[in-house]
Amino acid sequence: MRILVTGGAGYIGSVVAAQLIAAGHEVTVLDDLSTGHTDAVPAGAGFVKGTLRDCAAEVLSDGADAVLHFAAKSLVGESVAEPARYWANNLGGSLALFEAMRELRVPAIVFSSTAAVYGEPERAPVAETDPTRPTSPYGASKLAVDVALTEFARLYGFGAVILRYFNVAGAQQAADGTWLGERHNPETHLIPNVLAAAATGRRVQVFGDDYPTPDGTCIRDYIHVTDLADAHLRALGACQPGRHRIYNLGNGAGFSVWEVIEVCREVTGIDIGVDVAARRAGDPAVLVASSARIQADLDWRARRDLRAMAANAWRFTQLRGSR
Ligand code: UDP
Repeated sequence: MRILVTGGAGYIGSVVAAQLIAAGHEVTVLDDLSTGHTDAVPAGAGFVKGTLRDCAAEVLSDGADAVLHFAAKSLVGESVAEPARYWANNLGGSLALFEAMRELRVPAIVFSSTAAVYGEPERAPVAETDPTRPTSPYGASKLAVDVALTEFARLYGFGAVILRYFNVAGAQQAADGTWLGERHNPETHLIPNVLAAAATGRRVQVFGDDYPTPDGTCIRDYIHVTDLADAHLRALGACQPGRHRIYNLGNGAGFSVWEVIEVCREVTGIDIGVDVAARRAGDPAVLVASSARIQADLDWRARRDLRAMAANAWRFTQLRGSR
């Protein structure tokens, strides 16, 4: 298939693009490089630098069978500081993309959504049918795209799959040997921050140890980026005209911040120093996915554990550090 990957110069988009190429698809990446990196665009992919608003129609007019849509702003804190930017970019950019797909009759899309649409869930694990009450403009803008896409599927016959990611981690080696991994600036995510602390001798901050959890730190559901990419390929194969489906993507098991740090200590062999800091605004105590629906419908399950995520991410951190 000819596939447009928006945001394919970013962490998750680049790993999925690499897997699509390995599976024999023809891939074009569209990315404005606001947070992505040109050297993350996998070998063998076409690349266009630009925004969805300016370039989606032009890129799709060259011919496409499907879109995998990752391009978005994704920092919760930044979204609270600059909500209008998140609405304009995440919802506005997606609508421009959907309009271009409608005009050019591109029939299928897999959309990268987030557990942030659930806000502070009432229970764990969270199912797709649970209430969506986002607590940040980031989560709200992603939920708005979910809703818009559902409408486009109903009105215009798009085949759409919406994947709600929990905590994505790890790195993947592409076919040419390059490692693709997480390098946000600023980095806010736990595993890369813990590993950066291991690499530099700095200390890592734990944001709150007074949550109502067994060890007092937040519990999250971590999923390896390679497993996540595998789910995208299955979702692509499951797109059917006029149908939209929503799937959570997680491991179904939760790990606390302390447990993550312990696994990172074991993997690196470094006694990473820790400071307990204040809670970070908007962090729910427990966020764990039920992935029963995608297991049943697409026969997908997470195959890689937290240790594999930490080990692959550590390899990526070391390779970047040695540049
Ligand atoms: N966290 C932390 N120190 C860090 C980064 C994150 O203690 O340097 C905590 C954060 O408060 C949350 C968990 O680790 O409880 C996962 O945070 P992350 O930003 O990786 O993902 P989120 O669940 O916010 O999407």
